[in-house]
Amino acid sequence: MAETGQYDVAVIGAGIAGSALAASLSGRGMRIALVEAMPLAEEELPAGIGLEYFDARVSALTPRSRRLLEDLDAWRSIAGYRQLPYRHMTVWDAEGTGQIEFDCSEVDAPALGYIVENRAIVKALLSRVQGAPDIALYNPARLAACDGGDDRPVQIGLEGGESLQADLLVAADGALSRVREMAGFETREWDYGHRAIVASVELEHSHRETAWQRFLPSGPLAFLPLPGDGQRHYCSIVWSLREELVDDLLALEEAAFCRELEQAIEGRLGGIFGSSPRFAFPLRQRHAVDYVQPGIALVADAAHTIHPLAGQGINLGLQDVAVLAEEILAGRERGTSPGELALLRRYQRRRKGENLLMMAAMDGFKRLFEQQALPLRWLRNVGMRGVDQIAPLKQQLIRHAMGLG
Ligand SMILES: Cc1cc2nc3c(=O)[nH]c(=O)nc-3n(C[C@H](O)[C@H](O)[C@H](O)COP(=O)(O)OP(=O)(O)OC[C@H]3O[C@@H](n4cnc5c(N)ncnc54)[C@H](O)[C@@H]3O)c2cc1C
Repeated sequence: MAETGQYDVAVIGAGIAGSALAASLSGRGMRIALVEAMPLAEEELPAGIGLEYFDARVSALTPRSRRLLEDLDAWRSIAGYRQLPYRHMTVWDAEGTGQIEFDCSEVDAPALGYIVENRAIVKALLSRVQGAPDIALYNPARLAACDGGDDRPVQIGLEGGESLQADLLVAADGALSRVREMAGFETREWDYGHRAIVASVELEHSHRETAWQRFLPSGPLAFLPLPGDGQRHYCSIVWSLREELVDDLLALEEAAFCRELEQAIEGRLGGIFGSSPRFAFPLRQRHAVDYVQPGIALVADAAHTIHPLAGQGINLGLQDVAVLAEEILAGRERGTSPGELALLRRYQRRRKGENLLMMAAMDGFKRLFEQQALPLRWLRNVGMRGVDQIAPLKQQLIRHAMGLG
């Protein structure tokens, strides 16, 4: 199969979305190619607990995403490594008294979500596809060109000269998707003027299985709970900040950075004793006008990127993957090619609305919390206190954020 270079589906990118799609399609009588530019790590993930061991990129997975990973038989391996259920969420406003608390008991669930290091998700999914007889893994291999799709297979060229053919080419190659660009997909995008600093930090007090989020005028700051060892307590932070503030914070010595962070979170978790190296990611909202063309589909970050303030990015991406896989497999039962436009349009119809809604909500939140005008600050605080006291409304919000609403 790999010698002929002919596939039913070729997936570009073996991040969370691409490897989940390959795993979803495996074992169904199709030939699948999975192409990943970065060399895939062979070694075991580090077992130690501590700042030097955590992956700086973590995801807050919803229960719905967990179910999908269970269906793909990847959750067992994630849980066998490490994940942390968070049962509570505290959100508050830096500029007033507004605070809102969410607890999983309010919706009779064991957890609001699960914090998992990204590399653990990818590793678990890849272990499902590596060695599968119906999946040819091209790695390291970078997409260099793609062409076609109208009633003929897509021609895919890799750097180094290798070429493949597929009935369907799926772009799971992330926010800066080359497939999207090469195939001329139009996008709507705007800069938030924010970058996000991510790092793991050690705390004086336990995080109490709580995700903490404070809205500052400069941007939202999240502390996501990580596993500890009983004596030591850790969180992963996502600190979204106006562009002009980021470089100074990155340049600080570790101790000075920890002091700034402690102040920004109002010392709610006590002292901050240390930080891993810090990384910064530009934040840009981007949404492809169409997710599909004949023979080509965009999924996850290739189709949409969203502000990380509600940690929904990969959760939306995994739902894209689930729906696209469902449509491809249903099409296969009918004898329809996976690249057929009508089939792909069904995928787009089923996903675009939900993705747009979540993107609009996150954008609205971000803008509302940036406002300094007194009436808006008042409204924010009253609104937060109000929502906190209305049980049915809160339950609805929680269920929606958990991917269950
Ligand atoms: C700071 C920050 C915090 C976040 N926190 C959360 C969170 O808590 N919860 C959540 O749900 N989401 C979160 N997100 C979003 C989440 O990280 C992304 O939605 C998710 O990683 C996207 O996965 P993906 O598989 O689509 O893309 P990626 O993870 O970007 O994977 C794309 C893959 O394609 C490969 N590739 C790229 N180009 C090529 C090419 N030409 N040829 C071959 N391979 C290629 C890349 O090497 C990569 O492996 C966060 C994002 C940021 C920036």
